[in-house]
Amino acid sequence: MTAAVLMVVAALSAFAPESATVRPRPARRTIVVDAGHGGRDNGMHGPIGGGPPIYEKNITLAVAKKLAADLESRGMTVVMTRKTDTLVTLGDQGKIANEARGDLFISVHVNAANTGWKDPGGARGYETYFLAEAKTEDERRVARMENASARFDTRSSGDRDNPLTFLLNDMMQNEHLRESSDLAQTIQGQLRKIHPGPSRGVKQAGFIVLVTAFMPSVLVEIGFGTNPAEAAWISSADGQFQIANAIADGAMEYLAHFDRRSSASSSANVAAGRSGPGAPR
Ligand SMILES: [Zn+2]
Repeated sequence: MTAAVLMVVAALSAFAPESATVRPRPARRTIVVDAGHGGRDNGMHGPIGGGPPIYEKNITLAVAKKLAADLESRGMTVVMTRKTDTLVTLGDQGKIANEARGDLFISVHVNAANTGWKDPGGARGYETYFLAEAKTEDERRVARMENASARFDTRSSGDRDNPLTFLLNDMMQNEHLRESSDLAQTIQGQLRKIHPGPSRGVKQAGFIVLVTAFMPSVLVEIGFGTNPAEAAWISSADGQFQIANAIADGAMEYLAHFDRRSSASSSANVAAGRSGPGAPR
């Protein structure tokens, strides 16, 4: 062997034990699962044109419970914002998530067609949102619909409506923009494998529920409760299990991406005691 080759071999062997130790360990992550609406806030109801009536709050809770069980079976710690038919005031979901030091926040919702549309009962499909300024009228429509839950907040406005508070929260959530967008992509991609309806894509809008959770956060519209076929599917135990499983697959896929991306800097993060995507960076 030439001296140059020997030097390369020596250099490689010097790195080998190092690279073995920085391989990310499968960390136990905390995932916050939010069942949209609840209590006095029914969310949307449907379907249009007959069929068994549904209320969004019941479907989101059933799916959120299945999602929580699925994630726990994969070794995740799960915190649910609600486990019963109760109202969690909009914005408090983020507080729960922050106090739990969540790594990810996933809010489950059901979409509703605008009755002014040409064929509102015909609208189908699923979409996953991350927090950023809405770019289309349809994104603004969904944000208006979900943010309307704020009307159930009977507390005095105080900090909640303070523009500075909103701005600061928005800036803190902005830190996670790229991560949230990736999480939305992986969830939407997994739903595509099982959902009978069309993919409406990854979208962005200003949701109050997402602005207060300081971690990668998404809101999933699992289908249109206004469409009779989709309302039946998202109400069925089988459909709910499939949706929950796909969302869990998406979350795990995102965490694998995150671990790969951060493996280079993992030593520093581990030394700091936090290595999850929700950890301050
Ligand atoms: Zn909703």
